[in-house]
Amino acid sequence: MRLLAYLFDFIVFIVIGRLVGLILSRLFGKQTAFRWGSPGAAPRPAHETRQGETVRDPVCGMFVSTEVSHQLKQDGKLLHFCSEECLERYQKEVLHVG
Ligand SMILES: [Zn+2]
Repeated sequence: MRLLAYLFDFIVFIVIGRLVGLILSRLFGKQTAFRWGSPGAAPRPAHETRQGETVRDPVCGMFVSTEVSHQLKQDGKLLHFCSEECLERYQKEVLHVG
């Protein structure tokens, strides 16, 4: 009866493995759905700025859409300005360029 016991163990192993996999995938699926379903619930790092978001102009403090902003890459970060004027002012006053 050793073979039967081995077979039984094998089946139990597969069933448990499938169940755990199913539970894990369901939990993971729910988490991702929850994350995507509620944008802005958790603070996102600045480098993850996506198209169509509104960010603050560091010069005048105005909020500007990343789709139409004047952009400047600094220290790996993308800065957004409402106008060319603000971008130039930032370069002059903060970076001392130009
Ligand atoms: Zn501005």
